[in-house]
Amino acid sequence: MKKILLLIFDGLGDQPIASLDNRTPLEMAAKKNLDSLAERGSCGVIQPLPEGLYPTSEECHLALFGYDFQKDYPGRGVLEALGLDLKLNGKEIAFRANFGTVDDDLILKDPRAGLITDVRMLAHAVSGKEIGGINFELVPSLGHRAVLILRGEPVNGYLSEVRRAVITDTDPHKAGPHQLGVRVLKPRDEAKTEKGQLIAKALEEYQLHTHQILNTHPVNQKRRRQGQPLANFILTRGSGNILSRPSFRAKYGLRACCIAGAPLYKGIARYLGMTVREVRGATGTLETNIKSKVKSTKLALREYDFVFLHFKGTDIAAEDYGDPRLKTDFIQRVDKQLGSLPRQDIVIAVTGDHSTVCATKDHSADPVPLLIYDGIHQDAVLSFGEKECRRGRLGTISGADLMPLLLKLGGKNV
Ligand code: ZN
Repeated sequence: MKKILLLIFDGLGDQPIASLDNRTPLEMAAKKNLDSLAERGSCGVIQPLPEGLYPTSEECHLALFGYDFQKDYPGRGVLEALGLDLKLNGKEIAFRANFGTVDDDLILKDPRAGLITDVRMLAHAVSGKEIGGINFELVPSLGHRAVLILRGEPVNGYLSEVRRAVITDTDPHKAGPHQLGVRVLKPRDEAKTEKGQLIAKALEEYQLHTHQILNTHPVNQKRRRQGQPLANFILTRGSGNILSRPSFRAKYGLRACCIAGAPLYKGIARYLGMTVREVRGATGTLETNIKSKVKSTKLALREYDFVFLHFKGTDIAAEDYGDPRLKTDFIQRVDKQLGSLPRQDIVIAVTGDHSTVCATKDHSADPVPLLIYDGIHQDAVLSFGEKECRRGRLGTISGADLMPLLLKLGGKNV
């Protein structure tokens, strides 16, 4: 069987930009290696999620890996926790948490606490608290981010009643552009169970308790003196718990390896039972060490049947900066390193998890360009881009179609 490499540029697709002669950042990019793969391979476009749904990175990745993006989705908190390599055994509720700034009436002033860069001391000060038989562990992640893990008898009881924890978000991030000036939300159990309501109440108590501690913590006293927003509230969202699901190996018989920088993608890979290879300088940012990641990919291809290589820069350029030139530049810098990839006995697929549009700085449901090189099949497409790929012989495929196609081309019977 051939090896399979799936390269995902996060948020790869985009819309034509008037100032770029109606071309997209991908179409603008000088990318001889990607174009060569497109020329010698087959192209198409992917619609990762069914039409009409907002494409989140985590759900789109699950779909591309051939999983049910709803049934198999454990919640963002679980994926973030696994991304930090925390060991979860199914008896926890995990939340994604952000340190934010609130005033004395708990009105949200800054959901990222002035982009605080290090929350380790603050997290340490409020981690380990016990309320109503529930232990609250807060683990710091990148920047203002953290993961909040709840354990204890009430949690076990709740999880035996519901398939997935559905404690609502306290981060009013869905309140739209007016989220600033909104009070933080009270958590509740969407499943409306008695135990879930107790957990929600304990979480609220934990948030109020930690708000007091954080307000007077030396880190925040210093921030107050320097006129910086205080990191004085733990905003939670994306509750979830480990669900039973087949591993990648059980599902496809493939030994799989992931090379990624951002915790979320490592978490998705670990959730599916892939080995995550840590790469020096892989940061999940625009400054990530592209060369090291590609080098590690080549080594991993010797040992594993399937390698998932992820780059986040394309999404960051579009979503955080809305800058098409930055997106083009990132694609070019990755492309430069792709010339050394093997082309024998391999299936190489390149696509994105969704489109991220520079003009709106948001994900969109626009189909994402796809190329598949297997050394055999070819079509008339000569370059890798949104318009060109639509003419490819693969046509429009769904997220769920990708893995069966790759396995077939790889020579694997499923
Ligand atoms: Zn994404």
